[in-house]
Amino acid sequence: MQLDVQGGDSTNVADRQVNQVTRILAGKLFDPYTLELLENQVITVDKESGLILNVQFSPNFIDTIEPDGTVPVIAPSVVEVIDLRHLTVLPGFVDTHVHFFLHPYSETSWEDQLTKESVIERTVRATVHAKRTLMAGFTTVRDLGTEGAGDADIALRKCLSSSSALIPGPRYFCATRAIVPTGSYGPKSALYLNREGVDGITGAEVADGREECMKAVRRQIGAGADWIKIYADYRVRSRIAGVSYRSGGESMSTFSSDELKIMIDTAHQYGVKVAAHATNKDTITELLRLSVDSIEHGYDMASNDPESDDQTQDEPLHTFAHSYTKWVPTLGAYYTMSSQGKEETWKRAVQTFKAGLARGMSNIACGGDTGVFAHGENALELSLMVEYGADWRKVLRWATLGGWECVRSMRWEGPKGKIRIAQLGEMKEDPRIVGDNDVPFGALKRGFIADVIATSGNLEADFCGAVSADNIQFVMKGGKVYKRDGFPLL
Ligand SMILES: [Zn+2]
Repeated sequence: MQLDVQGGDSTNVADRQVNQVTRILAGKLFDPYTLELLENQVITVDKESGLILNVQFSPNFIDTIEPDGTVPVIAPSVVEVIDLRHLTVLPGFVDTHVHFFLHPYSETSWEDQLTKESVIERTVRATVHAKRTLMAGFTTVRDLGTEGAGDADIALRKCLSSSSALIPGPRYFCATRAIVPTGSYGPKSALYLNREGVDGITGAEVADGREECMKAVRRQIGAGADWIKIYADYRVRSRIAGVSYRSGGESMSTFSSDELKIMIDTAHQYGVKVAAHATNKDTITELLRLSVDSIEHGYDMASNDPESDDQTQDEPLHTFAHSYTKWVPTLGAYYTMSSQGKEETWKRAVQTFKAGLARGMSNIACGGDTGVFAHGENALELSLMVEYGADWRKVLRWATLGGWECVRSMRWEGPKGKIRIAQLGEMKEDPRIVGDNDVPFGALKRGFIADVIATSGNLEADFCGAVSADNIQFVMKGGKVYKRDGFPLL
């Protein structure tokens, strides 16, 4: 039956099985489905599960009701009301490409981090990065490789996850070590030219041939990886750069097609997605054919002639725009490195991004390759996308719901995934049952987890300011508040 407390119904409210809830009053709320900013919304969050029970329009915020009835806001089930009427509320941001075990190269070069900082130091740094990321409003990240820190990300994930997490941080999807073929990746010894790594440290896991590639994927999945990361092209001949500039700097396909296929197929067999570092057209064309799940960077996809209207020149961009594969352009990293001698790459990254927008690409996710620049400044990627021509509302979608669509496991894809999504309203995806990384996030809707942030900025008038960490006043992950009134609570 419905209760009407104001109307004097004598039913004892305490007798009902009512979950305790938190109410969030949102002055404005971003909906990634319609791209609208909705006014005066009330989000009701189940205190126990952290799931959103409902989101409702409430003209004056005083006539808010229970999901099942008409109890006013001062109902016994409401244990807390969070007043964000003066703020714009959004689903928590998702950064789909970070490296928690790296810090800006402007502080310490990549090579020195790998060869002169111990895994202990790098892990302590990673815990600090995790907190900064969460406080910047990024409630989920995908870490695409520890870069020499082995499988330390798996242990970090344990410390960041579940209701008994040791330290604050985002939902953490990780890939352990990237996979590379022999000779292709660093760090490289100055003394032993023919050896992999320096002092036993390799930036990624080496695998050659179908069998080793399959084994590497299986081993990493066995170690607990959420994702498989492959370096599908790289500056393989970097050692000749001093005498043959072009060849030394050229990014070329690393693995054979057979090797790529076996890695992607093996991962998919276990429900694990594959991210590929890839920049050149040929490699990306092959990866799209093999149904890789995300392409990282891809800065060299556009036609070299920006004046050309010939879309065939933009292959694979054209194919990519109509594929299931997500594109993570990592503008943040190229922008940062443009002042470190990589101006040309940055120019190409902007050119390709604009060409992607012109081709109507919407299968984009926001990942800055954060770590190349400071953790906590993750929103740089969003700002650059807007600065270089993307509609800010679409960028917000890519940074929220698009992020979930990218990082979620294969259990959310295909016909079975569709059914699962259609059943979200039945509140089955309780984190206590499915776990931190298998809950739905990226939208504020019934059945989604309450990963909620709020900014004091004006998204329309000053997008860059509004998404920057300084203006993120409120952060909730899984129904638990981590930042309030601009101050971290932990
Ligand atoms: Zn990266």
